[in-house]
Amino acid sequence: MSDLYKLQDPTKQYPQPKFKHQPQAVPGIAAEMMPKPDHGEKSYKGNGRLPHRKALVTGGDSGIGRAAAIAFAREGADVAINYLPEEEEDAKETIALIEKAGRKAVAIPGDLRDEAFCVAMVKQAHKQLGGLDILACVAGKQHATEKIADITTEQFEQTYRVNVFSLFWTVKAALPLMPPGGSIITTASIQATHPSPSLLDYAPTKAAILAFTRALARQVAEDGIRVNCVAPGPVWTPLQTSGGQPDKKIPEFGSETPMKRPGQPVEMAPLYVLLASQESSYVTGEVYGATGGLEVS
Ligand code: NAD
Ligand code: MG
Repeated sequence: MSDLYKLQDPTKQYPQPKFKHQPQAVPGIAAEMMPKPDHGEKSYKGNGRLPHRKALVTGGDSGIGRAAAIAFAREGADVAINYLPEEEEDAKETIALIEKAGRKAVAIPGDLRDEAFCVAMVKQAHKQLGGLDILACVAGKQHATEKIADITTEQFEQTYRVNVFSLFWTVKAALPLMPPGGSIITTASIQATHPSPSLLDYAPTKAAILAFTRALARQVAEDGIRVNCVAPGPVWTPLQTSGGQPDKKIPEFGSETPMKRPGQPVEMAPLYVLLASQESSYVTGEVYGATGGLEVS
């Protein structure tokens, strides 16, 4: 556990390569990773920045979504999380952490590839939380494939369904329920602007998310809704160890960054909190990177 608030060298703050090979099936489980990702369980301290907010976080069971969910709760928000039914083990941990922060937690398992589910998820979150002020769309699918010849149409379509279509369906359902002051946060990637050759299906979905964020922000600004994007670099999450990277690249994961280590999910959390909070009232249509020094734009 790192003390987030102590002055220290960030290059040494969290685990550095080499990591063990540790392939997992999709969706990966954070509880099985070595070392375990740091989602801020023991370190993130809230400062009352999201008092009584109602937040829905997709992909909230693990990784960046869990880090955002923990931080939102500790800042004062009630939080609903969505995840796949196979991720119940990770989801239970996140739910317990939200409750331990003294906030209401709502678990909404289900598959975002289904439009009807996306609509039902938003309605359930709104009903059980008693409102919806923050929508953090964090869920994502990434499967590294070296050659275009090996990317099936099914894989290409599934990646688009999870990363792009579900965003459209979820945001469309949520907007009529969100009050002025509401904040939508999308999750792109450094891949949106610096695509890896092995992520030919994934990288364009992240570029789409970026464009969607900017277009939507300009469309709904007059309604008092802000829309911004977090663009992470390499982050130590089960997405990566379950095929997001080829297993042979896991030992050196993150070493390509100027900081020479991957980010931890907790290092993304302050961006989601800032963008969710009223403190960033003049920020919309923006992309906030956290990449260990790689360039996002
Ligand atoms: P993660 O595996 O912890 O989270 C991804 C989540 O997506 C899963 O927990 C799962 O609940 C959800 N998901 C996937 N398919 C789904 C489906 N069909 N229905 C419902 N939920 C589904 O990994 P993470 O790295 O924290 O990923 C979070 C986001 O961050 C993703 O959008 C990812 O593209 C993005 N991102 C990650 C990195 C990285 O290096 N880890 C870098 C840039 C961007
Ligand atoms: Mg997960």
